[in-house]
Amino acid sequence: MKDARPKYQFAIGSFVVDIFQAGSFLVDGGALFGGVPPEVWTAWMEADSRGRVRIPCWGCVVRGEGKCILTEPGVGEIWPEALLEYADPEIVSLRVGLGDIGIPVEAVTDVVLTHLHYDHCGGVCERGERGRLIDLFPEAHYHVQEWEMSYARSAGPWEKEGYAEELVGFLAAHPRTCSWNGPFLLGEGLSVHVGQGHTPCLQWLEVRSGGKAFAHISDIVPTQWHLAYHLASAFDAYPGDLCRFKTKLLKRAFREGLTISWAHDPLYPAVRLRPEGGFEALGGG
Ligand SMILES: [Zn+2]
Repeated sequence: MKDARPKYQFAIGSFVVDIFQAGSFLVDGGALFGGVPPEVWTAWMEADSRGRVRIPCWGCVVRGEGKCILTEPGVGEIWPEALLEYADPEIVSLRVGLGDIGIPVEAVTDVVLTHLHYDHCGGVCERGERGRLIDLFPEAHYHVQEWEMSYARSAGPWEKEGYAEELVGFLAAHPRTCSWNGPFLLGEGLSVHVGQGHTPCLQWLEVRSGGKAFAHISDIVPTQWHLAYHLASAFDAYPGDLCRFKTKLLKRAFREGLTISWAHDPLYPAVRLRPEGGFEALGGG
């Protein structure tokens, strides 16, 4: 029987990596696929009568060397007001998603927030008493790029749509939020890189150990179809920069046969890129 919520576990040297579903939501298919004509993208994904497609958020936990790192906590219950009609009534919370892979919230030591769009950081919060926001993780440090935070707090209305002010404010004020200016290391074999285009400063986690490598590249390549170097979505703040940066990153990734996960592919939690082109699906389907 097909798993209702696909997940995938694999080893990268001394680390164990779990990819799991951290929520889902509806999105305008035309916006997701940028300049791709509807007759093409509707053959890729089924749209509802309003042109919306349902996409998962792929969360990732990396364990090893005394760390339990979550990246991509996915969408939660806090939304930008203008986008409420895209909320998925069947949403699975991050707490449930972590339960699917047997990770208690107390075990998480670090949360790498790739960027602050609501569907990439909302999962860390729940509403507590009197509607106050509380975070899920009693011990974790929240890692965020300073530039991303300042952009999220000061962007104009046309750029602000993807940010939920309440969430961004909560994370900005959180005593366990760590701000970074550029790439950094979370430990031996655990690098956080910085890229441009989707937002001015998106960061992502790469794991290297025992001659193997894995990266969760978030919204740089949100679905398998965005592996095309020229394909940007309407959610990319700087499409030209995104395509230039993505091309450079993917050329290296294909050459190395890197295992990647991505933000929202409807079918596969993770894939291995083939040096000869294309990919091998890992889990899901
Ligand atoms: Zn995004």
